[in-house]
Amino acid sequence: MLKKTHLAIFLCASSLFSTASNALEKVDLLIKNAAVLTMNEDKTIFQQGLVAVKGNKIIAVTNGEDIKNYQAETIIDADGDIVMPGLINTHTHASMTVFRSLADDVPDRLHRYIFPLEKKLVSRDMVRIGAQLGNVEMLKGGVTTYADMYYFEDEVAKTVDKIGMRAVLGESVIKFPVADAENAQQGIDYALNFINEYKDHPRITPAFAPHATYTNSTETLQKITKLSLQHDVPVMIHLAESERENQVIAERSGGKSPIAYMAEIGALTPNLIAAHVINADDNDIALLKKYDVGIAHNMSANIKSAKGVAPIIKMQEQGLRIGLGTDGPMSGNTLSTIDEFNQVAKVHKLVNQDRAAMPPVDVIEMATIGSARALHMEDKIGSLEVGKLADIIIIDTKAPNMVPVYNPYSALVYSAYAANVKHTIVDGKVLMHHRKMLTVDEDAIRSEALQFADKVRKTVIESGEIVQ
Ligand SMILES: [Zn+2]
Repeated sequence: MLKKTHLAIFLCASSLFSTASNALEKVDLLIKNAAVLTMNEDKTIFQQGLVAVKGNKIIAVTNGEDIKNYQAETIIDADGDIVMPGLINTHTHASMTVFRSLADDVPDRLHRYIFPLEKKLVSRDMVRIGAQLGNVEMLKGGVTTYADMYYFEDEVAKTVDKIGMRAVLGESVIKFPVADAENAQQGIDYALNFINEYKDHPRITPAFAPHATYTNSTETLQKITKLSLQHDVPVMIHLAESERENQVIAERSGGKSPIAYMAEIGALTPNLIAAHVINADDNDIALLKKYDVGIAHNMSANIKSAKGVAPIIKMQEQGLRIGLGTDGPMSGNTLSTIDEFNQVAKVHKLVNQDRAAMPPVDVIEMATIGSARALHMEDKIGSLEVGKLADIIIIDTKAPNMVPVYNPYSALVYSAYAANVKHTIVDGKVLMHHRKMLTVDEDAIRSEALQFADKVRKTVIESGEIVQ
Protein backbone atom coordinates (compact mmCIF):
# COMPACT_ATOMS: atom_id res chain seq x y z
CA MET A 1 0.00 0.00 0.00
CA LEU A 2 2.75 2.40 0.98
CA LYS A 3 4.50 1.94 -2.28
CA LYS A 4 1.37 2.74 -4.27
CA THR A 5 0.70 5.86 -2.19
CA HIS A 6 4.16 7.20 -2.90
CA LEU A 7 3.96 6.39 -6.56
CA ALA A 8 0.64 8.20 -6.72
CA ILE A 9 2.28 11.29 -5.23
CA PHE A 10 5.06 11.08 -7.79
CA LEU A 11 2.69 10.60 -10.70
CA CYS A 12 0.59 13.54 -9.53
CA ALA A 13 3.71 15.68 -9.44
CA SER A 14 4.74 14.58 -12.91
CA SER A 15 1.42 15.80 -14.33
CA LEU A 16 2.98 19.26 -14.22
CA PHE A 17 4.75 18.20 -17.36
CA SER A 18 1.84 16.44 -19.05
CA THR A 19 1.27 19.18 -21.63
CA ALA A 20 4.93 19.36 -22.61
CA SER A 21 5.99 18.83 -26.20
CA ASN A 22 7.73 15.79 -27.65
CA ALA A 23 10.99 17.71 -27.75
CA LEU A 24 11.34 17.32 -24.02
CA GLU A 25 13.87 14.85 -22.68
CA LYS A 26 11.97 12.01 -21.06
CA VAL A 27 13.55 10.85 -17.83
CA ASP A 28 12.52 8.37 -15.17
CA LEU A 29 13.45 10.44 -12.12
CA LEU A 30 14.05 14.15 -11.67
CA ILE A 31 15.31 15.64 -8.40
CA LYS A 32 14.81 19.39 -8.43
CA ASN A 33 15.41 22.40 -6.13
CA ALA A 34 18.42 20.57 -4.82
CA ALA A 35 21.59 21.75 -3.09
CA VAL A 36 23.66 19.33 -5.17
CA LEU A 37 27.04 18.19 -3.87
CA THR A 38 28.40 16.54 -6.97
CA MET A 39 31.71 15.32 -5.46
CA ASN A 40 33.16 15.55 -8.97
CA GLU A 41 36.81 16.47 -9.43
CA ASP A 42 36.10 20.21 -9.05
CA LYS A 43 33.72 19.59 -6.09
CA THR A 44 31.02 21.51 -7.95
CA ILE A 45 28.01 22.52 -5.87
CA PHE A 46 24.69 23.69 -7.39
CA GLN A 47 22.51 25.65 -4.96
CA GLN A 48 19.20 25.16 -6.80
CA GLY A 49 20.27 22.32 -9.04
CA LEU A 50 18.75 19.23 -10.53
CA VAL A 51 19.71 15.61 -11.09
CA ALA A 52 18.01 13.69 -13.92
CA VAL A 53 18.02 9.90 -14.07
CA LYS A 54 17.13 7.57 -16.93
CA GLY A 55 17.02 3.87 -16.12
CA ASN A 56 19.83 3.29 -13.63
CA LYS A 57 22.09 6.12 -14.87
CA ILE A 58 22.50 9.82 -14.19
CA ILE A 59 21.94 11.73 -17.44
CA ALA A 60 22.14 15.31 -16.18
CA VAL A 61 23.45 17.23 -13.18
CA THR A 62 22.90 20.97 -13.65
CA ASN A 63 22.26 24.31 -11.96
CA GLY A 64 18.54 23.80 -12.60
CA GLU A 65 18.08 26.46 -15.28
CA ASP A 66 17.25 23.74 -17.82
CA ILE A 67 14.48 22.20 -15.73
CA LYS A 68 11.85 22.89 -18.39
CA ASN A 69 13.71 20.58 -20.77
CA TYR A 70 12.74 17.43 -18.86
CA GLN A 71 9.61 15.36 -18.70
CA ALA A 72 9.83 13.07 -15.69
CA GLU A 73 7.97 9.94 -14.69
CA THR A 74 8.81 10.65 -11.04
CA ILE A 75 9.76 13.98 -9.48
CA ILE A 76 11.27 14.59 -6.09
CA ASP A 77 11.25 18.23 -5.00
CA ALA A 78 14.26 18.46 -2.69
CA ASP A 79 13.07 21.89 -1.47
CA GLY A 80 16.64 23.03 -0.86
CA ASP A 81 17.81 19.83 0.84
CA ILE A 82 21.30 18.43 0.21
CA VAL A 83 21.45 15.95 -2.67
CA MET A 84 24.66 13.97 -2.79
CA PRO A 85 26.16 10.65 -3.90
CA GLY A 86 25.07 7.62 -1.88
CA LEU A 87 27.50 6.78 0.92
CA ILE A 88 29.78 3.77 0.53
CA ASN A 89 30.67 1.66 3.55
CA THR A 90 33.94 -0.04 2.59
CA HIS A 91 34.12 -2.50 5.49
CA THR A 92 31.52 -4.27 7.56
CA HIS A 93 30.10 -7.58 8.71
CA ALA A 94 26.39 -6.73 8.37
CA SER A 95 25.06 -10.02 9.73
CA MET A 96 26.63 -9.32 13.14
CA THR A 97 23.86 -6.80 13.90
CA VAL A 98 22.22 -9.61 15.90
CA PHE A 99 25.23 -9.60 18.27
CA ARG A 100 25.34 -5.80 18.67
CA SER A 101 26.11 -4.54 22.23
CA LEU A 102 27.28 -7.95 23.48
CA ALA A 103 30.42 -7.81 25.66
CA ASP A 104 31.45 -4.45 24.26
CA ASP A 105 34.48 -3.53 26.33
CA VAL A 106 36.09 -6.90 27.06
CA PRO A 107 39.87 -7.18 26.43
CA ASP A 108 40.97 -9.61 23.67
CA ARG A 109 37.32 -9.88 22.70
CA LEU A 110 37.83 -11.38 19.23
CA HIS A 111 39.51 -14.53 20.51
CA ARG A 112 37.79 -14.83 23.88
CA TYR A 113 34.23 -14.08 22.79
CA ILE A 114 33.53 -13.39 19.14
CA PHE A 115 35.11 -16.51 17.59
CA PRO A 116 33.48 -18.88 20.19
CA LEU A 117 30.15 -17.02 19.88
CA GLU A 118 30.22 -17.35 16.11
CA LYS A 119 31.12 -21.04 16.33
CA LYS A 120 27.96 -21.58 18.36
CA LEU A 121 25.47 -19.30 16.64
CA VAL A 122 26.41 -18.56 13.03
CA SER A 123 24.02 -20.25 10.62
CA ARG A 124 22.33 -19.51 7.31
CA ASP A 125 19.37 -18.12 9.23
CA MET A 126 21.50 -15.91 11.47
CA VAL A 127 23.38 -14.50 8.45
CA ARG A 128 20.13 -13.73 6.63
CA ILE A 129 18.39 -12.19 9.67
CA GLY A 130 21.39 -10.04 10.60
CA ALA A 131 22.07 -8.90 7.03
CA GLN A 132 18.44 -7.89 6.50
CA LEU A 133 18.60 -5.67 9.57
CA GLY A 134 22.00 -4.28 8.59
CA ASN A 135 20.73 -3.45 5.10
CA VAL A 136 17.80 -1.47 6.51
CA GLU A 137 20.05 0.37 8.95
CA MET A 138 22.49 1.25 6.16
CA LEU A 139 19.87 2.38 3.65
CA LYS A 140 18.20 4.53 6.32
CA GLY A 141 21.61 6.02 7.04
CA GLY A 142 22.29 6.81 3.38
CA VAL A 143 24.60 3.89 2.58
CA THR A 144 23.89 2.69 -0.95
CA THR A 145 26.90 0.38 -1.42
CA TYR A 146 28.72 -1.70 1.17
CA ALA A 147 31.61 -4.11 1.33
CA ASP A 148 30.99 -7.11 3.57
CA MET A 149 33.11 -9.96 4.93
CA TYR A 150 31.33 -12.90 6.53
CA TYR A 151 30.16 -16.50 6.23
CA PHE A 152 27.31 -17.80 4.02
CA GLU A 153 27.71 -14.67 1.86
CA ASP A 154 25.23 -16.17 -0.62
CA GLU A 155 22.59 -15.48 2.06
CA VAL A 156 23.77 -11.87 2.36
CA ALA A 157 23.61 -11.64 -1.44
CA LYS A 158 19.95 -12.71 -1.48
CA THR A 159 19.07 -9.93 1.00
CA VAL A 160 21.00 -7.33 -1.04
CA ASP A 161 19.31 -8.47 -4.23
CA LYS A 162 15.89 -8.18 -2.59
CA ILE A 163 16.29 -4.76 -0.99
CA GLY A 164 17.93 -3.33 -4.12
CA MET A 165 21.28 -2.14 -2.69
CA ARG A 166 24.74 -2.46 -4.22
CA ALA A 167 27.43 -4.53 -2.46
CA VAL A 168 30.83 -6.16 -2.66
CA LEU A 169 30.39 -9.40 -0.73
CA GLY A 170 33.41 -11.37 0.43
CA GLU A 171 33.14 -14.98 1.55
CA SER A 172 35.40 -15.47 4.59
CA VAL A 173 38.35 -17.84 4.53
CA ILE A 174 39.97 -18.74 7.84
CA LYS A 175 42.24 -21.56 8.98
CA PHE A 176 40.04 -23.07 11.72
CA PRO A 177 36.57 -24.69 11.46
CA VAL A 178 33.72 -22.19 11.04
CA ALA A 179 30.00 -22.48 10.34
CA ASP A 180 30.28 -22.93 6.58
CA ALA A 181 33.73 -24.54 6.21
CA GLU A 182 35.92 -27.00 8.11
CA ASN A 183 39.16 -25.41 6.92
CA ALA A 184 40.59 -22.73 4.63
CA GLN A 185 40.37 -24.90 1.50
CA GLN A 186 36.66 -25.49 2.06
CA GLY A 187 36.27 -21.73 2.55
CA ILE A 188 38.00 -21.14 -0.80
CA ASP A 189 35.73 -23.70 -2.47
CA TYR A 190 32.67 -22.03 -0.92
CA ALA A 191 33.89 -18.64 -2.17
CA LEU A 192 34.47 -20.00 -5.68
CA ASN A 193 30.91 -21.36 -5.88
CA PHE A 194 29.57 -18.03 -4.62
CA ILE A 195 31.69 -16.11 -7.15
CA ASN A 196 30.45 -18.29 -10.00
CA GLU A 197 26.85 -17.82 -8.89
CA TYR A 198 27.00 -14.01 -8.59
CA LYS A 199 29.72 -12.90 -11.02
CA ASP A 200 27.18 -11.50 -13.52
CA HIS A 201 24.84 -9.85 -11.00
CA PRO A 202 24.28 -6.17 -11.89
CA ARG A 203 24.57 -4.88 -8.30
CA ILE A 204 26.57 -7.53 -6.45
CA THR A 205 30.33 -8.07 -6.78
CA PRO A 206 31.33 -11.40 -5.19
CA ALA A 207 34.76 -11.52 -3.56
CA PHE A 208 37.21 -13.52 -1.45
CA ALA A 209 37.64 -12.45 2.18
CA PRO A 210 40.62 -14.09 3.91
CA HIS A 211 40.01 -12.99 7.50
CA ALA A 212 43.55 -11.74 8.17
CA THR A 213 47.23 -12.61 7.65
CA TYR A 214 47.66 -14.30 11.05
CA THR A 215 44.47 -16.38 10.72
CA ASN A 216 45.51 -17.80 7.35
CA SER A 217 48.64 -19.53 6.06
CA THR A 218 50.98 -18.07 3.46
CA GLU A 219 49.86 -20.80 1.07
CA THR A 220 46.18 -19.85 1.51
CA LEU A 221 46.86 -16.14 0.99
CA GLN A 222 48.85 -16.89 -2.17
CA LYS A 223 46.19 -19.27 -3.50
CA ILE A 224 43.46 -16.65 -2.98
CA THR A 225 45.56 -13.94 -4.64
CA LYS A 226 46.07 -16.14 -7.70
CA LEU A 227 42.37 -17.05 -7.92
CA SER A 228 41.29 -13.42 -7.48
CA LEU A 229 43.44 -12.34 -10.43
CA GLN A 230 42.22 -15.29 -12.47
CA HIS A 231 38.53 -14.49 -11.79
CA ASP A 232 39.11 -10.71 -11.58
CA VAL A 233 37.34 -10.36 -8.24
CA PRO A 234 38.31 -8.35 -5.14
CA VAL A 235 40.03 -9.71 -2.04
CA MET A 236 39.11 -8.14 1.30
CA ILE A 237 41.25 -8.63 4.39
CA HIS A 238 41.82 -7.18 7.88
CA LEU A 239 45.41 -5.88 7.64
CA ALA A 240 47.93 -4.21 9.97
CA GLU A 241 45.29 -4.11 12.68
CA SER A 242 46.66 -5.63 15.89
CA GLU A 243 49.72 -6.38 18.01
CA ARG A 244 48.93 -10.10 17.87
CA GLU A 245 49.08 -9.91 14.08
CA ASN A 246 52.41 -8.04 14.20
CA GLN A 247 53.91 -10.74 16.45
CA VAL A 248 52.64 -13.75 14.47
CA ILE A 249 53.73 -12.27 11.15
CA ALA A 250 57.12 -11.12 12.47
CA GLU A 251 57.78 -14.71 13.64
CA ARG A 252 56.56 -16.15 10.34
CA SER A 253 58.51 -13.76 8.10
CA GLY A 254 61.75 -13.07 9.96
CA GLY A 255 60.68 -9.70 11.38
CA LYS A 256 58.57 -8.21 8.60
CA SER A 257 55.52 -6.02 9.10
CA PRO A 258 52.21 -7.56 7.95
CA ILE A 259 52.16 -5.26 4.90
CA ALA A 260 55.80 -6.01 3.93
CA TYR A 261 55.05 -9.72 4.38
CA MET A 262 51.99 -9.46 2.10
CA ALA A 263 54.17 -7.72 -0.52
CA GLU A 264 56.84 -10.41 -0.24
CA ILE A 265 54.41 -13.30 -0.73
CA GLY A 266 52.83 -11.54 -3.74
CA ALA A 267 49.49 -10.87 -2.03
CA LEU A 268 49.44 -7.08 -2.50
CA THR A 269 47.57 -6.40 -5.75
CA PRO A 270 45.12 -3.79 -7.05
CA ASN A 271 42.36 -6.33 -6.26
CA LEU A 272 43.08 -6.05 -2.52
CA ILE A 273 40.94 -3.98 -0.13
CA ALA A 274 42.65 -3.74 3.26
CA ALA A 275 40.60 -2.86 6.33
CA HIS A 276 42.08 -0.85 9.25
CA VAL A 277 45.79 -0.50 8.25
CA ILE A 278 46.62 1.05 11.62
CA ASN A 279 50.21 -0.21 11.90
CA ALA A 280 51.72 1.20 8.72
CA ASP A 281 55.05 3.02 8.52
CA ASP A 282 56.32 5.02 5.54
CA ASN A 283 57.70 1.89 3.88
CA ASP A 284 54.34 0.12 4.30
CA ILE A 285 52.45 3.11 2.87
CA ALA A 286 54.80 3.14 -0.14
CA LEU A 287 54.07 -0.56 -0.72
CA LEU A 288 50.29 0.03 -0.54
CA LYS A 289 50.69 2.83 -3.10
CA LYS A 290 52.93 0.75 -5.35
CA TYR A 291 50.38 -2.08 -5.53
CA ASP A 292 47.36 0.28 -5.68
CA VAL A 293 45.67 -1.33 -2.67
CA GLY A 294 42.31 0.06 -1.45
CA ILE A 295 42.09 1.13 2.21
CA ALA A 296 38.99 0.93 4.44
CA HIS A 297 39.34 3.38 7.35
CA ASN A 298 37.21 2.40 10.36
CA MET A 299 37.75 5.12 12.93
CA SER A 300 35.07 4.39 15.52
CA ALA A 301 35.91 0.67 15.71
CA ASN A 302 39.64 1.38 15.94
CA ILE A 303 39.37 3.89 18.77
CA LYS A 304 36.76 1.84 20.64
CA SER A 305 39.11 -1.14 20.65
CA ALA A 306 42.02 1.16 21.58
CA LYS A 307 44.07 -0.34 18.72
CA GLY A 308 45.15 3.02 17.36
CA VAL A 309 44.51 5.52 14.59
CA ALA A 310 45.50 4.71 11.02
CA PRO A 311 47.97 7.21 9.49
CA ILE A 312 45.35 8.36 7.00
CA ILE A 313 46.72 11.86 6.45
CA LYS A 314 50.09 10.39 5.41
CA MET A 315 48.23 8.02 3.11
CA GLN A 316 46.27 10.91 1.60
CA GLU A 317 49.55 12.72 0.92
CA GLN A 318 50.76 9.67 -0.99
CA GLY A 319 47.52 9.50 -3.01
CA LEU A 320 46.24 6.16 -1.72
CA ARG A 321 42.71 4.94 -2.38
CA ILE A 322 41.03 5.59 0.99
CA GLY A 323 37.41 4.96 1.88
CA LEU A 324 35.34 4.99 5.06
CA GLY A 325 34.04 1.90 6.78
CA THR A 326 32.21 1.16 10.00
CA ASP A 327 33.50 -2.35 10.69
CA GLY A 328 30.95 -4.81 12.05
CA PRO A 329 28.19 -3.85 14.46
CA MET A 330 29.99 -5.62 17.34
CA SER A 331 32.91 -3.25 16.75
CA GLY A 332 31.56 0.03 15.38
CA ASN A 333 28.55 -0.37 16.53
CA THR A 334 26.51 1.35 13.85
CA LEU A 335 26.62 0.75 10.13
CA SER A 336 26.02 4.20 8.72
CA THR A 337 29.19 6.03 7.79
CA ILE A 338 27.50 9.32 8.77
CA ASP A 339 28.21 8.27 12.35
CA GLU A 340 31.92 8.08 11.45
CA PHE A 341 32.21 11.57 9.96
CA ASN A 342 32.50 13.51 13.20
CA GLN A 343 35.03 11.13 14.71
CA VAL A 344 37.18 10.95 11.58
CA ALA A 345 37.41 14.76 11.37
CA LYS A 346 38.10 15.27 15.08
CA VAL A 347 40.44 12.39 15.95
CA HIS A 348 42.80 13.15 13.05
CA LYS A 349 42.95 16.77 14.27
CA LEU A 350 43.80 15.53 17.75
CA VAL A 351 46.48 13.00 16.80
CA ASN A 352 48.09 15.47 14.37
CA GLN A 353 47.67 18.36 16.85
CA ASP A 354 46.33 20.45 14.00
CA ARG A 355 42.90 22.06 13.99
CA ALA A 356 43.05 22.39 10.21
CA ALA A 357 43.72 18.68 9.63
CA MET A 358 41.06 16.51 7.97
CA PRO A 359 38.65 19.26 6.90
CA PRO A 360 35.00 18.26 6.35
CA VAL A 361 35.31 18.22 2.56
CA ASP A 362 38.01 15.53 2.88
CA VAL A 363 35.73 13.42 5.07
CA ILE A 364 32.85 13.66 2.59
CA GLU A 365 35.26 12.80 -0.23
CA MET A 366 36.40 9.73 1.72
CA ALA A 367 32.78 8.64 2.28
CA THR A 368 31.80 8.96 -1.40
CA ILE A 369 34.27 9.04 -4.30
CA GLY A 370 37.15 8.02 -2.03
CA SER A 371 35.29 4.90 -0.94
CA ALA A 372 34.45 4.20 -4.59
CA ARG A 373 38.19 4.41 -5.35
CA ALA A 374 38.99 2.07 -2.45
CA LEU A 375 36.65 -0.50 -4.02
CA HIS A 376 37.98 0.29 -7.55
CA MET A 377 34.46 1.35 -8.55
CA GLU A 378 35.12 5.06 -9.11
CA ASP A 379 34.13 4.87 -12.78
CA LYS A 380 30.63 3.72 -11.76
CA ILE A 381 29.71 5.28 -8.38
CA GLY A 382 30.84 7.82 -5.78
CA SER A 383 29.90 11.12 -7.45
CA LEU A 384 26.92 12.70 -9.19
CA GLU A 385 28.13 12.91 -12.77
CA VAL A 386 26.64 12.14 -16.16
CA GLY A 387 27.03 8.46 -17.01
CA LYS A 388 27.42 7.26 -13.43
CA LEU A 389 25.00 4.88 -11.74
CA ALA A 390 22.15 6.69 -9.98
CA ASP A 391 22.99 6.08 -6.32
CA ILE A 392 21.75 9.26 -4.65
CA ILE A 393 20.73 10.41 -1.17
CA ILE A 394 18.81 13.43 0.03
CA ILE A 395 19.63 14.91 3.45
CA ASP A 396 16.98 16.85 5.38
CA THR A 397 18.30 20.35 6.05
CA LYS A 398 15.19 21.41 7.97
CA ALA A 399 15.93 19.14 10.94
CA PRO A 400 16.85 21.30 13.96
CA ASN A 401 20.41 19.98 14.10
CA MET A 402 20.95 21.00 10.45
CA VAL A 403 19.76 24.63 10.61
CA PRO A 404 21.34 26.75 9.17
CA VAL A 405 23.67 25.39 6.47
CA TYR A 406 26.42 27.87 5.60
CA ASN A 407 28.83 25.15 4.54
CA PRO A 408 27.23 21.84 3.50
CA TYR A 409 30.40 19.80 4.17
CA SER A 410 30.66 21.17 7.72
CA ALA A 411 26.95 20.60 8.31
CA LEU A 412 27.22 16.98 7.17
CA VAL A 413 30.38 16.18 9.13
CA TYR A 414 29.79 18.04 12.39
CA SER A 415 25.98 18.21 12.65
CA ALA A 416 24.26 15.45 10.68
CA TYR A 417 22.73 12.30 12.12
CA ALA A 418 22.02 9.18 10.09
CA ALA A 419 18.33 9.89 10.71
CA ASN A 420 18.63 13.10 8.66
CA VAL A 421 18.69 10.99 5.48
CA LYS A 422 15.26 11.55 3.95
CA HIS A 423 15.35 9.59 0.67
CA THR A 424 17.73 6.90 -0.62
CA ILE A 425 17.98 5.96 -4.29
CA VAL A 426 20.02 3.03 -5.61
CA ASP A 427 20.45 2.13 -9.28
CA GLY A 428 17.79 4.71 -10.19
CA LYS A 429 15.17 3.24 -7.85
CA VAL A 430 13.78 4.97 -4.76
CA LEU A 431 14.36 2.41 -1.98
CA MET A 432 13.59 4.71 0.97
CA HIS A 433 11.11 7.59 0.67
CA HIS A 434 10.52 9.92 3.62
CA ARG A 435 12.29 7.26 5.75
CA LYS A 436 9.87 4.50 4.74
CA MET A 437 11.38 1.38 3.23
CA LEU A 438 9.74 0.61 -0.11
CA THR A 439 11.22 -2.79 -1.00
CA VAL A 440 11.25 -4.65 2.34
CA ASP A 441 9.07 -4.90 5.43
CA GLU A 442 11.08 -3.17 8.15
CA ASP A 443 8.78 -4.33 10.99
CA ALA A 444 9.04 -7.98 9.97
CA ILE A 445 12.84 -7.68 9.73
CA ARG A 446 13.02 -6.17 13.23
CA SER A 447 10.78 -8.93 14.64
CA GLU A 448 13.00 -11.66 13.22
CA ALA A 449 16.10 -9.96 14.69
CA LEU A 450 14.44 -9.70 18.10
CA GLN A 451 13.49 -13.38 17.98
CA PHE A 452 17.10 -14.24 17.23
CA ALA A 453 18.23 -11.99 20.10
CA ASP A 454 16.07 -14.13 22.44
CA LYS A 455 18.01 -17.16 21.25
CA VAL A 456 21.30 -15.34 21.93
CA ARG A 457 20.13 -14.48 25.46
CA LYS A 458 19.18 -18.10 26.18
CA THR A 459 22.26 -19.73 24.69
CA VAL A 460 25.12 -17.48 25.73
CA ILE A 461 24.01 -14.87 28.26
CA GLU A 462 21.87 -16.93 30.63
CA SER A 463 24.41 -19.78 30.50
CA GLY A 464 27.06 -17.32 31.66
CA GLU A 465 29.28 -17.74 28.58
CA ILE A 466 29.13 -14.02 27.84
CA VAL A 467 29.55 -11.67 30.75
CA GLN A 468 27.69 -8.45 30.04
ZN1 LIG B 1 36.13 -6.16 10.31
